[in-house]
Amino acid sequence: MEKLLKKLSVGFPDLKFIRGNQCRWSPGDRTITYTTDTSEDCASWALLHELAHATLNHTTYRMDIDLLLMEVAAWEKAKQLAKNYGFAIDDGHIQDCLDTYRDWLDQRSTCPTCGNNSLQQGSEEYQCFNCQTLWRVSSSRFCRPYRQKNRSKNKTSPVLRQATFQ
Ligand SMILES: [Zn+2]
Ligand SMILES: [Zn+2]
Repeated sequence: MEKLLKKLSVGFPDLKFIRGNQCRWSPGDRTITYTTDTSEDCASWALLHELAHATLNHTTYRMDIDLLLMEVAAWEKAKQLAKNYGFAIDDGHIQDCLDTYRDWLDQRSTCPTCGNNSLQQGSEEYQCFNCQTLWRVSSSRFCRPYRQKNRSKNKTSPVLRQATFQ
């Protein structure tokens, strides 16, 4: 991990790498936050995944499906990057990560009235084409439960609306 970090900061001098309690890519300040809490392999894969978001220049998205597609693209890119640095990312790990996004998307797009899978109408709105129910979804991006606190903070300060990627 230390070795990889050193190589990455040389290879990508325009990016900042800081240690934190959650992996993420923040396009606004071009910073990658990495963790060392998980196993060595997982930590390196996560770091390469965030680097992939950075090199693909992922900054924002409008529709939920776009986020899922960006995650897929980021893992594809991460696999290439991993090869360059002598790693191989486990496909099962990638599918597990993508599943959390698929579940999230599924939850948001399921009609609360009839359970039909529906199309997103706007960045915060879905409508069921079966029973016409309209429902709103939180504008906050992909949030895991432990991010709830940050979420309410974001709501009161629109300045922090910048998307980050996990
Ligand atoms: Zn419905
Ligand atoms: Zn990601």
